Amino acid sequence: MNRNIYMDYAATTFIKNEVLEEMMPYLKGFYGNPSSQYSIGFKSKMSIEFARDNISNAINCKSEEVFFTSGATEANNWAIKGFAHGNKERGNHIITTKIEHESLLSSCRYLEGNGFRVTYLSVDEEGLIDLEELKNSIEKDTIIVSIMFANNEIGTIQNIKEIGKICKGKGVVFHCDGVQAFGKVPIDVKELNIDMLSISSHKIYGPKGVGALYVKKGIKLHNLLHGGGQERSKRGGTENVASIVGFGKATEISFNNMKEDMERLTILRDEMIDNLLHIEGSFLNGGSGNNRLPNNINIAFPGINGEDLLFNLDRMGVCVSSGSACQATSMEPSHVLLALGLSKELAKASIRISIGDETTKEDMEYVCENIRNIVDRIRMVTE
Ligand code: PMP
Repeated sequence: MNRNIYMDYAATTFIKNEVLEEMMPYLKGFYGNPSSQYSIGFKSKMSIEFARDNISNAINCKSEEVFFTSGATEANNWAIKGFAHGNKERGNHIITTKIEHESLLSSCRYLEGNGFRVTYLSVDEEGLIDLEELKNSIEKDTIIVSIMFANNEIGTIQNIKEIGKICKGKGVVFHCDGVQAFGKVPIDVKELNIDMLSISSHKIYGPKGVGALYVKKGIKLHNLLHGGGQERSKRGGTENVASIVGFGKATEISFNNMKEDMERLTILRDEMIDNLLHIEGSFLNGGSGNNRLPNNINIAFPGINGEDLLFNLDRMGVCVSSGSACQATSMEPSHVLLALGLSKELAKASIRISIGDETTKEDMEYVCENIRNIVDRIRMVTE
């Protein structure tokens, strides 16, 4: 009998029951506009501020430093474009990496067409940047460095503490895409010297279409969206109240349970990697040990087309991914895997498995067995 096994938690997650319960009243009864001057309006406004407190507590910042957005795509666009436009008298140079999420990379390409210069740092075979190269790339006209906390495809966790130190030492602002790390790795923006942080709700069992940008007090950021006085006039638009409430609740739950949840996932992850590496020729892409997200497995099966593997797994009720969901419609091999030095062929022979709350040891064994069978079958046919 086929099962339904979801192993694409890095693409998105289901909404937890407690999160949905918390959201429901704001979809129906408490529908007041948070900007309105009567009690159901105040109620909405207060619920937003409560969620903001949950998020600021989780990352150790002040609540007025958290701005809600429609997700991390908007947060990344806002951070890099808003900062570049707001600080162009100080310089026009931006540093990022070759393995950022498309929302960051395409914002950088847009800025390149508008008078800015961008350095794209390389990564080593594990996906880590070279800290010396970062130091040497910072020039007099460098205004911002944007480096993701953990990669969405290969799970590599950068040395954020050192990156923060380098940026602080050189007097440049450090923006970090924290989407995949948020809720899985402790993030203390003060201790890590992170000046701006993008996060998203739907990776931590909250609703889709809501996220936030942390902006350290004093940072000059132009608006991306111009509108009313919401979000202290920094981001106009009637707030997505129920989703913000859900995001706040999902944050609270994730951070309360992070240690135990991540310990459990790390054990499952390592067993799964171990199991899959027994398949002839297979190898792991991305970070090793502590440099890898507890829920990420990215593995190549030479001679196999990852899309074929995905299709066959789907028929067995298993959802995994060939890379980033945001680029799943592109036939191009992953820019992240190419940056690790993989050939196009090997990049296309790779799949990403990301586990989460509902993943069990039995699921893991079922998926490994099916992968082994499918790989054997495909290899037999194509030999
Ligand atoms: N950055 C990273 C690292 C991501 O994984 C994602 C989601 N795939 C985003 C940004 C975009 O987030 P959102 O879906 O909230 O726009």
